[in-house]
Amino acid sequence: MLEKDCLFCKIIEGKIPSSKVYEDDKMLVFKDIEPKAKIHLLAIAKDHFKLLSNMDEKQAETLKYVLVKIPEIAAQNGCKNGYRLVINQGEDAGQTVFHLHIHILGGQTLPW
Ligand code: 5GP
Ligand code: ZN
Repeated sequence: MLEKDCLFCKIIEGKIPSSKVYEDDKMLVFKDIEPKAKIHLLAIAKDHFKLLSNMDEKQAETLKYVLVKIPEIAAQNGCKNGYRLVINQGEDAGQTVFHLHIHILGGQTLPW
C-alpha cells in the first residue's frame, strides 16, 4: 500500500525522479540525494510503513526479503570492502522521511 503524501511512495510511483540502482515487485534501491558517504543508497520496501514499531508480520517478511537482497546490491554498486546499514527510528535518531528505509553506506572507511 502506498501513501499519498509520502515522499518515498512518490519515488516508487515515479512522481519524483530518483537514481534507481535496483527494483523488483517488492523493493526499490536508489541513491540518496545528499550522500553521507562515497556510496549512499536507500533501500525501501514498496509496502509503506513508517517505523519498525509499526511493522506487522507481513511487512516483517518484506523487510527480511530486502535484507537478503542487500549484500548482492551493495556489491554490485561498489561496496567492495563492506558497508554499514542504518535504520533511523524516530526523531531522536534524526528520521526525516517516515517510510521505513535502510541506509547503505560504503565505498570508503567509515568513521564511527
Ligand atoms: P532519514 O534521515 O529519514 O533516515 O533519511 C532520509 C534520507 O532521504 C536522507 O539521507 C535524505 O538525504 C534522503 N532524501 C530526502 N529527500 C530525498 C529525495 O527526494 N530523493 C532522494 N534520493 N533522497 C532523499
Ligand atoms: Zn511511503
